[in-house]
Amino acid sequence: MKIFTDNRLLRAGLIGGTLTRHSGNMREISNQESAFKELGINPARMLHFHQTHSDTLVSVSSAKEAQSLLRAPLLDADAWLLCPVPAGWGAAIVTADCVPLFLWDDTATHLALAHCGWRGIVQGLPGKTARALLQASAHARLNAWLGPHIQACCFEVQEDVAAQFPAACVQHSNGKIHVDLTAEIKRQLTQAGVCGERIQAPLYCTCGDAEHFFSWRRDHQKNLLLSFIYKP
Ligand SMILES: [Zn+2]
Repeated sequence: MKIFTDNRLLRAGLIGGTLTRHSGNMREISNQESAFKELGINPARMLHFHQTHSDTLVSVSSAKEAQSLLRAPLLDADAWLLCPVPAGWGAAIVTADCVPLFLWDDTATHLALAHCGWRGIVQGLPGKTARALLQASAHARLNAWLGPHIQACCFEVQEDVAAQFPAACVQHSNGKIHVDLTAEIKRQLTQAGVCGERIQAPLYCTCGDAEHFFSWRRDHQKNLLLSFIYKP
């Protein structure tokens, strides 16, 4: 199993990252369960929601709350706040070009995982998630990692989409328009109070790297990658 991750997550005592396409299409719950079992994680302790490209957060602060979410129908939302995260619990999202955004503090007590598509980014989801986590954690020093997603090289858009982003993350060349989602998320995070040096965004491009990743933009198939964060 190959997993893209940030060593700072592991050093903090967390398990998390983004699995490659070789772990299978994560639209299939059975593939998710197999992957979690291989990682030594109980799939029944991983939280899911129904992603809707919104700016809606779900906050969990105890094992009891987590249990009650498991029993209820899936919520419509796009970001998890586990604050404080109950030990032995985690959360998962699925993506295929959208940005999996991970936030956590050095004590691995306060975590967030957000599904940031361009619509959610335009609505301010990355900044909103960071602000909520900072507030709920009494302003812990947060680390951020942006998992594999579509980079500006492949994210060509029309004027109507570009117009919704700040000019600083819109690139014009040869009559084409590209948007740099990474830059806009970094801007929102730093504006929310996350230290720039603590934001890592490796340049993996889901659309440009067919060996490792599924990509909606490239394949137009409903194959999804799994991102997760888990507190042992
Ligand atoms: Zn690319």
